[in-house]
Amino acid sequence: MTPSVTVSHRGEERIRAGHPWVYRSDIIAVEHAGAGEIVRVVSGRGGRHRPLGCALYSDRSEIAIRMVSRAEERIDDAFWRRRLERAIEYRRQLDVAATDTTAYRLVHGEGDLLPSLVVDRYGDYLVMQALSQGTDRLQSAFVRHLVDLVQPRGVLARNDPRVRLLEGLEQKVELLHGEVPEQVFVREAGVEYEIDPWHGQKTGLFLDQRENRLAARRWARGRLLDCFSYHGGFALALAGQCDTALALDISEDAVARIRANAARNAVRNVDARTANVFDELREFDRAGETFDTIVLDPPAFAKSKPAVAKAAAGYKEINLRAMKLLAPGGILVTCSCSYNVDEEMFGAIVQRAAADAHADMVLVDKRIQGRDHPVLIGVPETYYLKCLILRKAGE
Ligand code: SAH
Repeated sequence: MTPSVTVSHRGEERIRAGHPWVYRSDIIAVEHAGAGEIVRVVSGRGGRHRPLGCALYSDRSEIAIRMVSRAEERIDDAFWRRRLERAIEYRRQLDVAATDTTAYRLVHGEGDLLPSLVVDRYGDYLVMQALSQGTDRLQSAFVRHLVDLVQPRGVLARNDPRVRLLEGLEQKVELLHGEVPEQVFVREAGVEYEIDPWHGQKTGLFLDQRENRLAARRWARGRLLDCFSYHGGFALALAGQCDTALALDISEDAVARIRANAARNAVRNVDARTANVFDELREFDRAGETFDTIVLDPPAFAKSKPAVAKAAAGYKEINLRAMKLLAPGGILVTCSCSYNVDEEMFGAIVQRAAADAHADMVLVDKRIQGRDHPVLIGVPETYYLKCLILRKAGE
């Protein structure tokens, strides 16, 4: 018997609107479907069992099915290979190599019609994440195709994100192919970074900010303050345009990495300090310091809906203080990677911060995550990173 799942009217409407997820509450019946299996999805409306496509099934997550096709087709090995080929082809079109870049996202889950699968490329190595029962079950097939299509020297599974627990899957990091060292060197727009794919945050780098770092380069100047710097991404990308750069991060390991990366690139005007940005901004304000360029790239303050109010207060505070610290004509690059704080809400927070700081801020660029992290229209969950570049008007 073919495994199948019958969805409610509301589930059907979601699928028709182009969203790949159907929640458990919109599932009417599950037949012969085991954890992570590929299922036929049928409409429960009018008892006609009209086919709606095919999906990955989870017997644990609130997201019960993730659509992979809205046609009735065979979801076999060749199907997955084609999907991976499309994702790789799209990155070729982006031509990231033209900017002297060897690290970028090769597969961005739903945005590449490969729900709950992430593959990042770090030069000769691939780091992947299987974030649902479905992709976990298919993991070895993905590795086989990726090895064939990309010929990496190694493939590592960073299957340690907490979302795996919602799927009843264990958190683990394991080598799936070849070898992957703890020290890998990559380049992003000509800047060389050392990353540790085994232990670094995410899969090693915050690749989603690549295009925004480049865009900020056009505006950066004078005295730069890079807040929440991690491995120095913005500081190193902008240092060439600035007189001095100060990078702040709360993690000592991250700060050590910023210093090492600065030395590796022979960038001499970057200073890095272990600090809590909230305290430091207050301190700078008290001391009457000013900066010409400030970057705010905090971690996701709102990891869930209930956390939104507190997150909004956090975003407002750092933005308000940064605007006060900016010299006239100064540039603020302000970001939010909280999916739960959407573009509109983030814009409103930044606007309130400007009002309270008595700063006239001009929006010079409004940006999202890099195009190697594609946003699928109709799937708001694929759009999470907002980046505004603002200029402080006035004399
Ligand atoms: N801007 C970075 C990515 C930032 S990720 C890039 O371009 O690559 C967020 C960083 O904020 C993490 O490195 C984390 O250690 C740091 N962080 C979290 N809370 C902090 C705080 N209160 N003060 C300073 N750094 C903090």
